[in-house]
Amino acid sequence: MNFAVYKQLKTFGRLFLSKFTGKKFLLSASFVITNRCNSRCGYCNTYNTPSEEMTTREIFQMIDEFSGLGIRRIGFTGGEPLLREDMGSIVSYAHQKGITTTLFSNGALVPKKIDGLKHLDLLLLSLDGPPEIHDTVRGMKGSFNHVQNAIHAAHEAQLPVWINAVITKGNVSQLPFLLDFAVDNQVKVMFMPVFDHTLSAAKDTIAHLSADEASFKGAINNLILQKKKGAPIVNSVSYFRYILQNWPDTNHLHCRAGMNFCAVGSDGMVYPCHFFVGSQCGANGRRLGFKNAFESIRTPKCKGCFCNAYIELNLFIAGHLNVIWNTVKHMEQRNSKKRTDKCSGEWK
Ligand code: SF4
Ligand code: SF4
Repeated sequence: MNFAVYKQLKTFGRLFLSKFTGKKFLLSASFVITNRCNSRCGYCNTYNTPSEEMTTREIFQMIDEFSGLGIRRIGFTGGEPLLREDMGSIVSYAHQKGITTTLFSNGALVPKKIDGLKHLDLLLLSLDGPPEIHDTVRGMKGSFNHVQNAIHAAHEAQLPVWINAVITKGNVSQLPFLLDFAVDNQVKVMFMPVFDHTLSAAKDTIAHLSADEASFKGAINNLILQKKKGAPIVNSVSYFRYILQNWPDTNHLHCRAGMNFCAVGSDGMVYPCHFFVGSQCGANGRRLGFKNAFESIRTPKCKGCFCNAYIELNLFIAGHLNVIWNTVKHMEQRNSKKRTDKCSGEWK
């Protein structure tokens, strides 16, 4: 058995042990490394919420402590993470510790910063539809071109790319465009509806952005169909069924936030998940130590969410075979393609 497979099996073992014993095991963390952003998306309030940022040394300390807990993945997000000048060295530091890294970006700074990201495992780019829609949603003309240039730069650097599309009433009819875009640009795509969560800062805006039920459900059913035909869609069929069953109301499925995953704010506060960043239920990682902060947080009472990454993880831990198979398949494909070739466009 090779070492990578052994590590994966060990992680699955720890995860399922955690589920049955109630003992925490930190698998994954998302880190809002900065709230600063160079976009102005209609459904986001992050850029309007200035926050203190940790130093490079403090971030290395956090990585050391999470590594000691056995963490396998850190997802850098924001804001726009590439606004941090030390982003490349932070990714490389996590890589040295054997941690898989992903980075969520709007793409604008990718061509300029790509040389420093040689240890990044996966680049995630936001894309909402064709140029006129994407630029409107992002509040910045030229945003669509930024995504295309970022994909081109990532391909040159042989860095795998997934695009993330938030479904709103403005783009619900454009999901076929996004699938074609993914094939033509040799990337994968994942979807998530805009939704109102427990601490949404812009509830009215979110309600205004949601697609009507018939269009939304029709679009999701079509994604299920296309996924089964082999379209390069990252989401599992179980995720799509989950949102179909619950939409428009979120549902608190048995969530492992604070048990198997957490989120860290730019100021070093540790929270159960990304949607609680800035809330009262965080623990101060810089003061308590990040290990202790993670141990002290609890799964919050919440009305649920439709976040693709969190729902997939929860369904995975709940033992949905479809999700486990989908996750393993994408992990394998990503690892085998990493720095060797691009995602294939065999589906179209
Ligand atoms: S790019 Fe991301 S962080 Fe920046 S405004 Fe848009 S959604 Fe918010
Ligand atoms: S369901 Fe879980 S991941 Fe989603 S908002 Fe609630 S605590 Fe966070």
